[in-house]
Amino acid sequence: MCKPRLAVFKFASCDGCQLSLLDAEDHLLAVADAVEIVYFPEATSRMEEGPYDIALVEGSVTTPHDAERIQQIRKDARYLMTIGACATAGGIQALRNWADEEEFMRYVYATPEYIQVLETSTPISEHVHVDFELRGCPINQYQLIEVIRSLLAGQTPRTPRHSVCLDCKRRGTVCVTVAQGTACLGPVTQSGCHALCPSYNRGCYGCFGPALQANLVSLSEQMEREGASKAEIAHKLKNFNAYSPAFRNESTRLVQLEGDQRG
Ligand code: SF4
Ligand code: SF4
Ligand code: SF4
Repeated sequence: MCKPRLAVFKFASCDGCQLSLLDAEDHLLAVADAVEIVYFPEATSRMEEGPYDIALVEGSVTTPHDAERIQQIRKDARYLMTIGACATAGGIQALRNWADEEEFMRYVYATPEYIQVLETSTPISEHVHVDFELRGCPINQYQLIEVIRSLLAGQTPRTPRHSVCLDCKRRGTVCVTVAQGTACLGPVTQSGCHALCPSYNRGCYGCFGPALQANLVSLSEQMEREGASKAEIAHKLKNFNAYSPAFRNESTRLVQLEGDQRG
């Protein structure tokens, strides 16, 4: 029997999510035995054309060429999964969506006239239908392996959608906000890291994106009561998942309110 054909594609990204997959080592080998990896430039020179049974896509759409390429990948893929904050929310590079990208290019490139970019960095789901989104910056490699295993077993993949706070409670981590007054996005951030940052006495900065039914307004109000300004809270939200709708809406609301107050 033919093994399912798996392909891994890169768009605008740092490659960190693909490296997470490679770092999974033994677990990856178990999966590699069950699939045929036919396109994965980060790991192998084998680069076969579609069709593919599973396509993993890292990175955001930032150029006209990206926007064309993802259409072809979608046509070639039976199941398309985006991996990481770049692919699921536009990534840190989506900060340019609030800025003048031509000005950015003038600062970065000696000859910007040769660069062709879109005005925005957008998640893959704004361009094609995505079957599953795996969050994180980077992704949790074990979640990825588990999702691939589910697909191979014919099951619908699932990842937890609760907030980081619940993981703090489960592992017995003392809340850094309550104990130290440290600002933390954990109440509105999706689980996936086993509450890593709070376990090192740091606040969460939201790298797994918004949790299901996250109450952003309530968290902002709480942070303001603790002394943070609207601009500071908006700045915290403008991170790896800045362009995810929930974080984007709240940072926009806060910036508008700040502007209104200043008159
Ligand atoms: S989500 Fe983070 S780790 Fe993954 S490719 Fe983007 S920047 Fe790199
Ligand atoms: S440290 Fe952050 S994530 Fe953990 S319980 Fe407190 S607010 Fe929630
Ligand atoms: S605690 Fe927050 S910022 Fe830290 S790894 Fe987890 S989701 Fe990312």
